[in-house]
Amino acid sequence: MVSETIVKDISRAVDRDRLLSTAIDLISIPSPTRSADKISNRLSEILQNDGFAVERVEANWPKAPAVVVRFESGKRGRTLQFDGHLDTVHLPYVPPRIDNGILRGLGAADMKGGIAACVEALRALRETRALPAGEVLFTAHDHHEGPWGDKRQIKGLIDAGYVGDAVLFPEYLSNRLPLAGRGMAIFQMTIHRTGEAIHEVLRPADLPDVLGTGAKLIGQLGALGKQISANAHPYMGNDSVFVGQISSGEIYNQSPAQCHIQGTRRWVQPGYAPAARAELETLVERLAETSNTQIDLNWQTRADAFSVAETDPIVLAFQNAHRAIAGHPLPFGDKPFVDDGNRYAALADVPVLTHGPNARGAHTTDEWVPLDELVRVARVYALTAIGYCNC
Ligand SMILES: [Zn+2]
Repeated sequence: MVSETIVKDISRAVDRDRLLSTAIDLISIPSPTRSADKISNRLSEILQNDGFAVERVEANWPKAPAVVVRFESGKRGRTLQFDGHLDTVHLPYVPPRIDNGILRGLGAADMKGGIAACVEALRALRETRALPAGEVLFTAHDHHEGPWGDKRQIKGLIDAGYVGDAVLFPEYLSNRLPLAGRGMAIFQMTIHRTGEAIHEVLRPADLPDVLGTGAKLIGQLGALGKQISANAHPYMGNDSVFVGQISSGEIYNQSPAQCHIQGTRRWVQPGYAPAARAELETLVERLAETSNTQIDLNWQTRADAFSVAETDPIVLAFQNAHRAIAGHPLPFGDKPFVDDGNRYAALADVPVLTHGPNARGAHTTDEWVPLDELVRVARVYALTAIGYCNC
């Protein structure tokens, strides 16, 4: 447990105005994915002005080297990493604006507000000298948002050894502690037949029906979905296969030569991607044979499933910190989206927790975050570090 004095010291040291000014600075610089160079430079400058030693780590992306700070207590202990992405989705830029205690602007929720809270947590730890042991590793980078980025910088950071014993991600999830998340792949299936599109009345009687085959395929995917929904996890939900798009045909009386289907496959068991892919391969091979078509499957694994033990020291430290600030621990739950935590879990095999402000509007032009939430997150992060790094 963290002592009441420390909770008070940290709560006092987190400076709302200073945090806000950092968040505004970050939102003031547009940083669509693959263009986080200016914002990275600005963030390094802010941290240097605060007296932190900043490292710039290329990590597969020389255009905007990652911003890294190691805040060390000087005593042996665990390393807690705070990791954030500085890039935003490619939507029209919205400058920062404060309105009734709410900060708005592109990136306010996803996740410049969260990064500013991490920076403020570092400042509070330094000013209070309350980190009893271990260190906090802060990393901020580009290349997060898809489809524009390919996560190469996270991989570069991990490959270069910038990995804590546990990692916190200040994404906009605050009402539960996500101890698990499903893996996810996007699939595209293209059904072809030989020959060109042709008027329906001119087609040979045995011409394969790609559109009808597409419909069958969707039916079979639905049946597969029912079957795999038995693979369940208490926090993650269950395996699923989902079709969100089908396209074929040009006009009502022309027999098309191709049909495209796109969707997602999600799974609960870490490492299951190859097996999930093989299931779809078998399904399309069989259908191609019986329908006299050719079906190509394109599969892209976007993230693997992960889970964190309820008794992991990072979970205990986080819950103690949350209880100290909010009066109660968070209920355990799942992570509905895929974030860099999935990647750290898969590539570095460390426990990962996503927790950030109760912010809204991610991936829209109306992002906002209450300032109180940023202050809360900064306090929770600093106290989590104090509890976790001391082992
Ligand atoms: Zn994000």
